[in-house]
Amino acid sequence: MREKITVLAVGAHPDDIEVACAGTLIRYVKEGHKVFIATACTGNVGSKTLSGPEIEAIRAVEAQKAANVIGAELIMLGYQDGEVWLDNPTWKKVVDVIRRTNPDVILTHDRDDYTHDHSNVGELAYRAAIWASVANIPDTQYPPIDHIPTVFYFETSGTNRIAPPDHYVDISQEFEQKCLAFRQHSSQHGDFLEKQFGFKDWFEYVEIVNKMRGFQCGCKYAEAFRVVQTWPNHKAYRLLPPVQFDSHYQ
Ligand SMILES: [Zn+2]
Repeated sequence: MREKITVLAVGAHPDDIEVACAGTLIRYVKEGHKVFIATACTGNVGSKTLSGPEIEAIRAVEAQKAANVIGAELIMLGYQDGEVWLDNPTWKKVVDVIRRTNPDVILTHDRDDYTHDHSNVGELAYRAAIWASVANIPDTQYPPIDHIPTVFYFETSGTNRIAPPDHYVDISQEFEQKCLAFRQHSSQHGDFLEKQFGFKDWFEYVEIVNKMRGFQCGCKYAEAFRVVQTWPNHKAYRLLPPVQFDSHYQ
């Protein structure tokens, strides 16, 4: 185990990561760890007035600005919205993004998330975490990594189908920076939000959820996670911020 770790947040759409776990990513960056954000889709359905190519160009710029606020390196996988399926080419692409970034920790969507782009990204990332370390997979671009990352599912907007979290990260000091990162996705706020989903204010949602999680764990704002309880992903030391290795296990 290295003293500084690498973190890969894998999301379906531009802005999913900012809503779900930007505070935690900012904490990782503050501790000196390397953070990647991999986003599967371009966000081409994120407008009711602009064409797909027009809105995805805007969203690429927004995503880069948000990654800059967080201090993360952004990787866009280039899928159209709604086109992330559990098929072989997509599987290989997720294996390769894990190999390329060589993470110790993966943060991603719960497999029971509400839309198939989300749930399929979560399923692929969870499964590929093991297979990224396996040799001789045909048609992959990058060599196998030498360890199996630990996977956490992050918060989802539709929590009704999701099991309760088992890990919390205090983001009280990072909450404003998280909101600033999310604010970079301005094409998704205001009119579009109201026309598409019938409500106006994503920031209110973020504040309520992070406050509720903070209330549950005794701080002002928190983000919540559920570790994937499967062999051999689960480690006997803490990999969420503050990262705390037990020397016995290193
Ligand atoms: Zn999404």
